[in-house]
Amino acid sequence: MRGLMQDRQLTIPTLLSRAETNFGHKRVITGGAGETVATWREVAPRVRKLARALTSLNVPPGACVGTFAWNSQRHVELYIGIPSSGRILHTVNHRLHHGQISFIVNDAADDVLFIDRSILPVIWPLVPSFRTVRHIVVMDDGGDMPLPDDPRILDYEELLSAQDDGPFENTVDDENAAASLCYTSGTTGNPKGVLYSHRSVVLHSLLLLGADVFALSERDVVAPIVPMFHVNAWGLPYAAMQCGADLLLPGPIKDAEELVTLLSRYGATFSAAVATVWRDLIPALPGHDLSRLRHIACGGGAVDDALSSTYEKIVGIPLTNAWGMTETSPVVTTARLATHHDGLDAEERRRLIGTPGPAVPLTEIRVVSDDGVEQPRDGRSPGELQTAGATIASAYFGADNGSDSFTADGWLRTGDVATIDQWGYLRIVDRTKDLVKSGGEWISSVALENAVMSDPRVKEAAVIGVSDPRWGERPMACVVPAAGVNLTADDVREHLRDRVASWWIPERIELMNEIPKTATGKWSKQTLRRRFAD
Ligand code: AMP
Repeated sequence: MRGLMQDRQLTIPTLLSRAETNFGHKRVITGGAGETVATWREVAPRVRKLARALTSLNVPPGACVGTFAWNSQRHVELYIGIPSSGRILHTVNHRLHHGQISFIVNDAADDVLFIDRSILPVIWPLVPSFRTVRHIVVMDDGGDMPLPDDPRILDYEELLSAQDDGPFENTVDDENAAASLCYTSGTTGNPKGVLYSHRSVVLHSLLLLGADVFALSERDVVAPIVPMFHVNAWGLPYAAMQCGADLLLPGPIKDAEELVTLLSRYGATFSAAVATVWRDLIPALPGHDLSRLRHIACGGGAVDDALSSTYEKIVGIPLTNAWGMTETSPVVTTARLATHHDGLDAEERRRLIGTPGPAVPLTEIRVVSDDGVEQPRDGRSPGELQTAGATIASAYFGADNGSDSFTADGWLRTGDVATIDQWGYLRIVDRTKDLVKSGGEWISSVALENAVMSDPRVKEAAVIGVSDPRWGERPMACVVPAAGVNLTADDVREHLRDRVASWWIPERIELMNEIPKTATGKWSKQTLRRRFAD
């Protein structure tokens, strides 16, 4: 017998309707030179006009609409308007290398792009390589690039003012319809797309509100510093709509002093970023009142205890870790103090919330040995971390759906090595995927090795991650010059200059006679890591 409850679909337009009806007075604030404050009552009609504008541009249902934008009110409008009208929001990281950006836009077959004017100088030179883009809508955020004289260019505000207000014309009614798309770095080859559904977005936004997760509520001022092109800004804009929190967005601000001033002026209570950002803000902290901050989420990597302790001293609270991936919406675990931690002293508590913590509702985690056996939950038996749940990808977007990333019983293989203790608390101990995470952004070791080895003066090259006080990790290249060649580290860097993104270029390049090999003749990165880790 089936239950007799209403079969209401979990879709993004219901979030907008909730925010407008119940929290119409709550604010979306955008920092930067042209700081703006708008209420949901003002934002909602703009979202509907945006949806109409997409129809006026003949963007078909199910088409991808790309965004290259900072964290701003307009980007929030795109977050809601594109999926609510049956199209797919495709956020793109403009810091990627040009070749990757072109691949991503073409792979998603983006029909229209929305670009902040301050980002246009990076994207405009790539436009000839975009095969499917028909229109480029520029959002004037104070950038000063003169608009190219090109019929494909449109202005966001003009586009919206040309529309009538009114209900969504073609709204989605299937919670399993695709809502948004985000690419993540592949270890080899091209980035892979993760395609979220309305249902996964709504469920993820709800779970963030949990008292043992981020405990977001109407009283919060939620400040996602994590870019909106990273996994839907960890779902925070949608969560703020669920609970009626004010949303505080940094806009194009990059300067630490300006950012901390913004957080202080609007009384941010919750903020989220990667460790590198929290580290960069330290010099700007003294002298600012951040006393309303009750939760500083630090995800995307490990929390360094010295950093957390600095926040505890200056701001009054330490950093709280969370673990997740683009594939997992992203939050799967977040640290919290449970009853069995009651006896811990202050330092032990700080260290504990600097670890990933237990799985949030709707998700499961397990660690599995190389021979496929689930490891005991004893906190000391490492294995590959696998995860499953309603907010976790079941396949990748596109032809290469990465089937070896999923187990036969449908769990995601994360490429992280972890332990789980008797209370379900996760610890990440290593990574099997050949990637380096620098300041929250991925660098593919294999792609970097190939770029180094495309130089005929190089015989072989291996790239490993080495720890770095600012970026968490940096790539280091171990390079063997071809016979008889007198090669310098600067030669290698010069060769990489136009081949990879500038932030991929290693500061540390070791020239050596031979790369250590394993018994099967592969490079022994373990040996290199042991030699250079410190
Ligand atoms: P991304 O898909 O770019 O969000 O990266 C996800 C990956 O970042 C994970 O598979 C881990 O390798 C790493 N990561 C994320 N959160 C943590 C954490 N709390 N501790 C250690 N590594 C993490």
